[in-house]
Amino acid sequence: MNCTRCGYLLFGLRENRCPECGAAFQTTDYAFPSGAVQFVCKGCGQAYLGADSFGLPFPRKFRCVQCHEVLDAADMMVRPIREGVTGEALRYGTPWDHLGRSRFAAAFVSSLTQLSTEGADFFRRAHLLDRGSAVTFGVWAAGVAGAFWLAVIAGVDALYRLSWWRPLPGMSWWWSIIVGGAAYLIGAALWMHLYAAVMWVVLRASGERRADFDSLVQVVAFATAVWPAMILPLVGVPWYVMLVATGLRSALEVSRGRAMIAAVFPLLLAANVVLAWLLL
Ligand SMILES: [Zn+2]
Ligand SMILES: [Zn+2]
Repeated sequence: MNCTRCGYLLFGLRENRCPECGAAFQTTDYAFPSGAVQFVCKGCGQAYLGADSFGLPFPRKFRCVQCHEVLDAADMMVRPIREGVTGEALRYGTPWDHLGRSRFAAAFVSSLTQLSTEGADFFRRAHLLDRGSAVTFGVWAAGVAGAFWLAVIAGVDALYRLSWWRPLPGMSWWWSIIVGGAAYLIGAALWMHLYAAVMWVVLRASGERRADFDSLVQVVAFATAVWPAMILPLVGVPWYVMLVATGLRSALEVSRGRAMIAAVFPLLLAANVVLAWLLL
């Protein structure tokens, strides 16, 4: 039973957090040989054998026979009762962390799906070790979103014969698409860093020390997964902010209130800047 981030051995800990690298874990992220480990009540020290096919207690939630506290196997202390017992990690990184092991398209689509349907789970499993890789994901997701918006706008345009489309001034159609597309993708990558930088300031100001800039950029980059929904801003924008806040909570252990404030503030700031620019 080793930390999925740094490999530290996690048996016998009172807190379900790696003492070496600080990553949170749940014992149910692992599978053990049946009957090889004990799950210990942190309140009174009563031990229960992990006897089901995952080597976990069954049911997973139960009342301690000794102190009558309600226990959840996921955050109990684990102690091996045989020599050389290992726990195999069941939740080892996200599909994007496993990019090297699977095809790019498969890792991308499955990360996109997981982020939009079970964001908290995705972020809890995320290693957040590679900023470049996360930003690459974000730029691809921004590209998918851009293509989707263009398709919808083109559809409306064709339907109502609006003839909105114009090439950029002084450029052919092809150059307009290439220059416009590149500017949009570079802008998306810059936005991820800007968003993270403002969050970093907000979190530092509120006394949160755990969230470093690199990890914040990665959380924002992964949240780009829900950009297609911004075609309906009243759905897309809150969803985007919620996913960033979920990332702060699940991946970086920021408290709920601070995560919400940190996630919303940069967007309010951006909205004000845009408004001021339009009015002046
Ligand atoms: Zn660790
Ligand atoms: Zn107990």
